[in-house]
Amino acid sequence: MNEIKTLLNSLGLADSAFTGGTLAVRSPIDGAAIGAVTEASADDMRAAVARAHSAFLAWRVVPAPRRGELVRLFGEELRLHKAALARLVSLEAGKVTSEGEGEVQEMIDICDFAVGLSRQLHGLTIASERPGHRMMEQWLPLGVVGIISAFNFPVAVWAWNSALALVCGNACVWKPSEKTPLTALATQALFDKALARFEGAPAHLSQVLNGGAAVGEAMVDDSHVALVSATGSTRMGRAVGPKVAARFGRCLLELGGNNAIIVSPSADLDLAVRGILFGAYGTAGQRCTTTRRVIIHASIHDELVARLDRARATLAIGSPLEAGNLIGPLIDQAAFDAMQKALAQAREQGGVISGGERALADVYPQAWYATPALVRMPAQTAVVKHETFAPILYTLKYETLDQAIALQNEVPQGLSSAIFTNDLREAELFLSASGSDCGIANVNIGTSGAEIGGAFGGEKETGGGRESGSDAWRAYMRRATNTINYSGALPLAQGVKFDF
Ligand code: NAD
Repeated sequence: MNEIKTLLNSLGLADSAFTGGTLAVRSPIDGAAIGAVTEASADDMRAAVARAHSAFLAWRVVPAPRRGELVRLFGEELRLHKAALARLVSLEAGKVTSEGEGEVQEMIDICDFAVGLSRQLHGLTIASERPGHRMMEQWLPLGVVGIISAFNFPVAVWAWNSALALVCGNACVWKPSEKTPLTALATQALFDKALARFEGAPAHLSQVLNGGAAVGEAMVDDSHVALVSATGSTRMGRAVGPKVAARFGRCLLELGGNNAIIVSPSADLDLAVRGILFGAYGTAGQRCTTTRRVIIHASIHDELVARLDRARATLAIGSPLEAGNLIGPLIDQAAFDAMQKALAQAREQGGVISGGERALADVYPQAWYATPALVRMPAQTAVVKHETFAPILYTLKYETLDQAIALQNEVPQGLSSAIFTNDLREAELFLSASGSDCGIANVNIGTSGAEIGGAFGGEKETGGGRESGSDAWRAYMRRATNTINYSGALPLAQGVKFDF
């Protein structure tokens, strides 16, 4: 608790911000209580949205490159406080040190991207069919952007959304995961430091409100929230999507994944083993892009599975704060129970399991560590098609590439996918229209660890949203098509006559 207090104070939070509230926070590392924050009510959310709307009305007329300057200053604060915020991510979400640091680096990277973008919010000019006319497209600020985030990327996902939303001229309201409110408060405090160094930003441009699903629901139902960007389980997306659609709001959904790697006979198996192990077991299997399935050609299946199993058994499990450990804890007991339930179902469905037991119960009786599990499956049964947010890797066998691609695409989710092959034809087929159906498809790298420069997101039950790089910024703006007549006549489109 003392370390948490020092960290939070250094990031700009007073003690009252993280003590005395009703939302208890526990570290997944050892189960210790590390804070108690204030929970917002539905009324608090509605009031915050109203304040954000006022902020939007002022912010939308600030020139975009000037808005970029605020994001640049925020990126500076993140650079200055990277180590402290990363440590807090490890303490609250259980990520190993390099992954906590990687998460904050991703925030810095998206700030840099957004600063450049603030001078590139380009529209098109379009040839008009009428003489003396000009057509063009403008991208204009949208309104209040509501951000709902998951525990496993407690701060980076917010940054992907808010850095773009802010340069696009919007105000943001954030409902973080109820499991990671401290990192959210600390991030907001860093944003406030940047705001204090910036002249001309309205109050309440970015706000955070902690609490559970009910606080998120109040945001979702509020017609002043022009865009709801929600990251989490498919279950959550099923609740949020229809509600936003019912009020004709805009929704950006980033939901569950069930990602596969295909390993072909020509693959470099050293690369494949590295990519599969990090993808399956890094972050204790708690990434939306985690590798849950590996689909291996029959000719190399037994050899590769044996190598994976041997390497799996050597992965160091333990406190994410200690150097050398690669696998930290699951977020809570519910996650461990879900893992055990999935393994029991896999066994019933013909799976042969290595690992998957509870680990370190003697050292951390209040925390939930598990040995990574490898499950040899006879077929892609029901349990394999379900996303269990834990370190479980299912292995499957294939004979032809068409079969492998069919297996890869057979699940309801469509986030990330990869093939390891040195055969150009196989690689191109996998990336083609008849290949992977996912939002992310890779060759000779794994499914997890996307860069911010590309658009991130997936198809089917993953929700269809795209965030981060490429042209994902357009989701945070409204498009206006303008036709300007400088001719002195009023010709009608399509040659229509209306003479009177
Ligand atoms: P979760 O769905 O339990 O919670 C996510 C967020 O949604 C939380 O803030 C929660 O309070 C809120 N929420 C839940 N029900 C809601 C409702 N009815 N209305 C409004 N808000 C509601 O997810 P989690 O356990 O925190 O995170 C793990 C899940 O997130 C996994 O399925 C993972 O794949 C997914 N995820 C997806 C991405 C992506 O980019 N596709 C990224 C990270 C995590």
